[in-house]
Amino acid sequence: MKIQTRLSKSLETLIQAVIPLADGDRIAFLRSLRQWYLLHLGGIHDDSQRGDGLKLLMDSSLDEIPVTEQSIVQARRQLERYRSGDMNWTLAAVDALITDICVLRDWNDCCVNDQFDLEYVIDTDTCTVVKTCTACGYTLDVVGNARERPGNFRIASRSELVAAGVIENAT
Ligand SMILES: [Zn+2]
Repeated sequence: MKIQTRLSKSLETLIQAVIPLADGDRIAFLRSLRQWYLLHLGGIHDDSQRGDGLKLLMDSSLDEIPVTEQSIVQARRQLERYRSGDMNWTLAAVDALITDICVLRDWNDCCVNDQFDLEYVIDTDTCTVVKTCTACGYTLDVVGNARERPGNFRIASRSELVAAGVIENAT
């Protein structure tokens, strides 16, 4: 099957069968999202080409993926734009959408330098949660103070974000 055909089918399945599950059980939704990816697009991305969201979705425990109601709202909005043809549904778009869902962003805030998204990461030197710009590396602590030192970061897991009070355990 041609890649374009696979992509179109994957978009409809995602909108009709997978995203609605986000209203129910979080783990069941993520399991379905992982299966959707494997079924429609597995083997297309090289492991090394997967972005942070796809890496999380494929490699980590589903319980540690910090999907939130807000990220689903954001994903639904983006999916409408793909469906209407306002944005192109490409492999890069799949990667970006999965990152929107699986990597926690601060949807109420953005970078002061370039208005790009701020994502929650762990500063591995201090083992604290910080927010960092996905484009320029501008970094804030969780209460919003800018930091001078860039630091070494990795994506924060759900339990780390719950422990830091960034997300509630019930979400
Ligand atoms: Zn920035």
